[in-house]
Amino acid sequence: MIMIKFMKTCYKCGTDVKRTKCTKKGVILSCLTCQDCGEEYFTSSELIKFDMMTGKI
Ligand SMILES: [Zn+2]
Repeated sequence: MIMIKFMKTCYKCGTDVKRTKCTKKGVILSCLTCQDCGEEYFTSSELIKFDMMTGKI
């Protein structure tokens, strides 16, 4: 899991990433998923939202 602002292709394999919804500890977040290797990328704003939802902030 890598924090990014915005990207179009996978950091690992260079395949186009697709906007999807990921569930992380019961919190639904927008993420980008690589269609080839399955690597998930979250934007920093989604990670802040996750921290808020899980009570870290
Ligand atoms: Zn990939």
